[in-house]
Amino acid sequence: RSPLAARSLRYATISPIAPRSTRRCLATQTEATATLPRSDDKKERVVILGSGWGGYTLSRRLSPKNYSPLIISPRSYFVFTPLLTDAASGSLDFSNIVEPVRDPRAKVDFIQAAARAVDLKKKTILCEATVVKSGVTESPRTEERETEEGPETTNKKPMHDQRLWEQGEIFEVPYDKLVIAVGAVSRTFGTPGVRENAMFFKDIGDAKRVKRRVRECFELAVLPTTTKDMQKHLLNFAIVGAGPTGIELAASLRDFIYDDMMALYPMLDAVPRITLYDVAPKVLSMFDESLSRYAMETMKSEGIDIKTSHHVKSLRWGPPGASTIHEMDPKRCLTLETEEEGQVGIGMCVWVTGNAMPKFITQSLGTVDFPADSVKSIDGSPVSANAEQESWQFKKGPRKGPLLVDGHLHVQLQNQAGQTAVLKDVFALGDNAMPETGAPPATAQATFQEAKWLASHLNKSDLDQTPGFSFRNMGTMAYIGNERALMQIPHEDDGNSRRYLPDGIKGRTASLVWKAAYITMSISWRNKFRVAFRWTLNKLFGRDVSRF
Ligand code: FAD
Repeated sequence: RSPLAARSLRYATISPIAPRSTRRCLATQTEATATLPRSDDKKERVVILGSGWGGYTLSRRLSPKNYSPLIISPRSYFVFTPLLTDAASGSLDFSNIVEPVRDPRAKVDFIQAAARAVDLKKKTILCEATVVKSGVTESPRTEERETEEGPETTNKKPMHDQRLWEQGEIFEVPYDKLVIAVGAVSRTFGTPGVRENAMFFKDIGDAKRVKRRVRECFELAVLPTTTKDMQKHLLNFAIVGAGPTGIELAASLRDFIYDDMMALYPMLDAVPRITLYDVAPKVLSMFDESLSRYAMETMKSEGIDIKTSHHVKSLRWGPPGASTIHEMDPKRCLTLETEEEGQVGIGMCVWVTGNAMPKFITQSLGTVDFPADSVKSIDGSPVSANAEQESWQFKKGPRKGPLLVDGHLHVQLQNQAGQTAVLKDVFALGDNAMPETGAPPATAQATFQEAKWLASHLNKSDLDQTPGFSFRNMGTMAYIGNERALMQIPHEDDGNSRRYLPDGIKGRTASLVWKAAYITMSISWRNKFRVAFRWTLNKLFGRDVSRF
């Protein structure tokens, strides 16, 4: 094992993903001191990149007898993403849906840093510390607003009071086994103005911004100087993407606005609107036709404007028809332009159209050098003796897609001749990985199963003897507002008729099941109680309408 020692690094030559300012700064910084947790020599050091569904679950399930797990993540907490929409709409406190990565009971080390590069020869990860001086610890993809087009450039003002991360210290961390679970970032499809002006919805910081902006728009709307037209624009809240996240966000905001905000602003009666856009002809395309139709009809009857088959062309600040304003000005509305209805004034646009790979996957993991004994061919036989001389790359899905892994979640490499090999000690799971043998959906459910499966087989040391991971669909749920939800029970007939329900469950019963499921699935007992308690409290006193 490499000693965990201070190293001289020239980061600018190593990582192409550092912002230019970072590279300038690092060109002069030649030495970085690292004080890293040292692994117990008898145990294998498993370095896990990411503290989300994949990384957090795996770290808690590895046997402390055999492994010494270390999480490296810019986020010092785990987020229970299925309830992020409830936190954004005041139904839950933000603290109800996070779990600290540091926990005295879990024998897991943690470093708050972002992985920037991997050296397969030295078996080390190059990291950049992401602890900001102010003590605010959020994900850099929230703070830098990383989308598939890369971090925002400084000449374009971000929408809200965003701080870019300060330059962090650079250090290397050695591993025996490496697990890559850095998740995904928002996909904007290169739509003009979206990266600069839209809000994304992946993390606690995003949910806080959404809630704050809704409150801000209501206060702006009642200023004596605000015209009726501007009121309508400011109180039109657009959500782009009618998958489960977009639907649940629209539904939760509907409850928040119509049940709680309107009680505070009765003078704005009938002005607020929630508009959901999607290019597809229907919402929730992964649900059965009948459930998807039910969702559309119910949400429309609850006051949500659903605009399917709409193509967003651009997003900019300023009211419709005004000369183009690029500068962010939160006192104004924005203009969303679609091919179908032209320009529309809106107060906020939340962009939830899908996943793209973070720069760490698309850029840092490219061509690799590795010792021949660290790989094996896909069928288990050793790779050719001259493998080291050939040019190998990480094998990825189409269009800068996720890392391709084999059935045992080993990361795959490919050479110019099209041969595939797998890295024995490097694994990937979750949104940034795609098993070639039957890709599960990019969901918490699938990621949780992968992490559990990998931990269990690493603990039993029988990974290569097992048939490989297979996803078991436990069903899909979506909240659609006003105490109604949908639940799709898996259709595959596996001989167990109790698991076969053709039309799923919908309406108030499904909403009760939805709530019970998420209380049960919340990680800690503390949060199970807090979530149940807050939902009960909301019935008596309403949701939290404070603006921080
Ligand atoms: P994540 O959970 O996103 O975790 C990625 C981690 O990697 C983060 O901790 C991040 O900080 C860290 N990271 C990023 N870059 C680096 C780096 N360079 N170095 C080190 N660490 C890094 N799925 C469901 O099944 N049901 C639902 O109801 C559901 N609802 C959702 C609601 C929302 C709002 C969202 C956003 C997602 C939802 N999902 C749901 C999807 C689910 O959350 C994801 O599929 C799941 O989080 C993927 O897990 P992951 O570990 O791959 O990534």
